[in-house]
Amino acid sequence: MELTQQQHNVVSKTLKDLLVSLEQDIEEAEKSSQPVTLDQQAFGRVSRVDAIQQQQMQAAVVRRMKKRLSMVKGAIQRLGSDDFGICIQCEEPIAFDRLMIRPESLACISCAQQAE
Ligand SMILES: [Zn+2]
Repeated sequence: MELTQQQHNVVSKTLKDLLVSLEQDIEEAEKSSQPVTLDQQAFGRVSRVDAIQQQQMQAAVVRRMKKRLSMVKGAIQRLGSDDFGICIQCEEPIAFDRLMIRPESLACISCAQQAE
């Protein structure tokens, strides 16, 4: 079923809110990820390894958020077009429930599952 105008409005607002919160989260994450200090007095050998691992995990989180941010931006650009909410693969409408969870989705759930 295609989105109603009201559902379209809801998804559109969700996307715009998501854009703002992702940008904030990325900024915060980048601010808090300081380079690992090599000062042996501040960090023992083990905790330095921990710090490096933690930093790598943090970097992975930021990469994922940035990827999602670019998908969100792409979806926002599609909002005005008739293609919004239509699966890019099978061209069937994407379920509203799915768009509420991942409003940046470009594919319907069955196509997305096949792609995994
Ligand atoms: Zn599909």
